Amino acid sequence: MSGNTPVVLKKDKTVPMPHGSELMMLPQRKPIVYNIAKDKFEIIEYNPFVQREKIFPVAVFNSPGYVNRYFCAYDDEGIKDLLPLFSYGAVGFGKNDFRSAAILVDTEPRQDLRQMPHNGIIKGVNQMQKKYPDNRLIRHLETCALQYGCPAGKNFFLKRYEAPLPTSTVCNANCLGCISLQTQNNLCACQERISFTPTPEEIAQVSLEHIFHVKKAVVSFGQGCEGDPLTAFKAIEPAIRLIRKKTDKGTINLNTNASLPQHVEKLCKAGLDSMRVSLNSVREDCYQAYFRPKSYQFSDVLKSIQAAKQQGKFVSINYLNCPGFTDSEKEFKALKEFIDTYQINMIQWRNLNFDPKKYYELMSKIEDGGRPLGMEIIIKQLSKYFPKLIHGYFNPPLF
Ligand code: SF4
Repeated sequence: MSGNTPVVLKKDKTVPMPHGSELMMLPQRKPIVYNIAKDKFEIIEYNPFVQREKIFPVAVFNSPGYVNRYFCAYDDEGIKDLLPLFSYGAVGFGKNDFRSAAILVDTEPRQDLRQMPHNGIIKGVNQMQKKYPDNRLIRHLETCALQYGCPAGKNFFLKRYEAPLPTSTVCNANCLGCISLQTQNNLCACQERISFTPTPEEIAQVSLEHIFHVKKAVVSFGQGCEGDPLTAFKAIEPAIRLIRKKTDKGTINLNTNASLPQHVEKLCKAGLDSMRVSLNSVREDCYQAYFRPKSYQFSDVLKSIQAAKQQGKFVSINYLNCPGFTDSEKEFKALKEFIDTYQINMIQWRNLNFDPKKYYELMSKIEDGGRPLGMEIIIKQLSKYFPKLIHGYFNPPLF
């Protein structure tokens, strides 16, 4: 499906299901299928080949680096509960294997589970325990890597790519799909928020350990297991200063809702290199409906972007994709204007981890976005209009 519209999925719009992806059954929902003989879409509840056997839709949660073209086609009439916080990409079975309706936007194997051997992670954990017995942030990352299976946590202990720096226990937004705090609906957060704010010294130790041992290292504030890092400004600003006192190597990055422009400005002055701003939409009303800001405005987000750009920093958006909404005519028009105005450097195409039908319904009530143009088409058109704009999935190392 793209928004509310079922689409016949053709092979040329699919890729072999990426390694590490997961298939999911959608309980209570009914599959929408295309009946070739009748040339029409139908909702079916029972297996046409086995009497009285109920059947359910199947979706794919694609591996990092892939953006969904469509989501799984299903009927959820009469169901109020939301699906758990994942993205539900369309998937089919070809002659020999499963195929995902997805587009590869980043080929880097940063979060490829095949490159994260468990023995190596254990070795790294043991080393860090000996070297930094009192660092609470490192103890927290051990849980992330070993219990939650967080790829960013694993990469810290494997000395690869990007290390996570969770710091914040609270947030000034209340996103519908927040993965670290859920108190309403039938949803549960898939990660527990960090319960303390590490000291600047603890943060600097993790960062320097990573930067000194990894080529093209990135260290990032703003992770799935915390609130928004700008609310921990008092810890992260001195931490950045401590890091930059010791080295000018490595990329210090901030993943954020960008709600506090004055803080962003000060972090940039302290030595922050890049900022990735999460947005489900560049249209204010649609942003408000998903992020539900508690104490800031959409205009503050725009001011933060402006502040970072003015100081010559690398700015990405973490653009949360739901096919049918993200590639709609109105959103695309607004996106082009946004890029033209703010000259952001990169779009990180991420799949929105939220019930796609309920999300589309909610957004359509706010504003009809018009016809979906197709995810591939909008990415191609953006490359044409903005040749310097980078498309990808991960925070790039700048040095
Ligand atoms: S900005 Fe991040 S931490 Fe805050 S509510 Fe949204 S998803 Fe959760």
